Amino acid sequence: MSAADIPVGGLAPFTTIDWPGRLAAAVFLRGCPWRCPYCHNADLQRVAGPRQPFSEVLDLLEQRRGFLDGVVFSGGEPTMHRQLPVALRQVRRLGFATALHTGGAYPEILEQILAAGLVDWVGFDVKAPFEHYQGVTGRADSGARARRSLELLQRSGVEYELRTTVYRPLLGDEQLQQLAGQLGPAAANRLVLQQARESGGGGDDASLQQLAARLVPLLGQVGVR
Ligand code: SF4
Repeated sequence: MSAADIPVGGLAPFTTIDWPGRLAAAVFLRGCPWRCPYCHNADLQRVAGPRQPFSEVLDLLEQRRGFLDGVVFSGGEPTMHRQLPVALRQVRRLGFATALHTGGAYPEILEQILAAGLVDWVGFDVKAPFEHYQGVTGRADSGARARRSLELLQRSGVEYELRTTVYRPLLGDEQLQQLAGQLGPAAANRLVLQQARESGGGGDDASLQQLAARLVPLLGQVGVR
């Protein structure tokens, strides 16, 4: 299999926010099976649409050797693509570390990537208590898939961060507490709350800080972004 036709919908040559503590390039892959109302990249949800060749990513990396630590594959949902393991391998062969943003929609691909040691860090979106996922994603099996993917990630030993977008119409205080309880001690000091940017998301930075403080007894340090 080749990575040549993996659907690259965007490329950020330099980012300091997509992989905390690292200087990275970010590759945004098209396609996501879920439909979260607060989606930060809704134009990437469909696989069809403008794309650029993966060779442009590799060319950029050749030019940035020594300047970048690594490459983040984001989306969309990057694990939607069977070519992703090949793409990660090609990037690593060029000498770059690799990271992944995922919501865990495709545990089979994630398992393959983790087992082959193809990622150094994962930013994992947790959207709601697992039994409430459908209300966020619009897909009936999404909670089970996310739960399975998170278990695989936690067992793998790969470093990770958990991110939850606080979209008040779908995630109230009670659900957030429930979610923190489900994540349990294995998630201690790993959760970051993110403000939903879309109108109707509700809340402000101060209320997000208060929410984070309320989760500390369950999860230790909780970040806000
Ligand atoms: S899983 Fe991520 S990319 Fe997919 S719809 Fe939800 S927020 Fe958007």
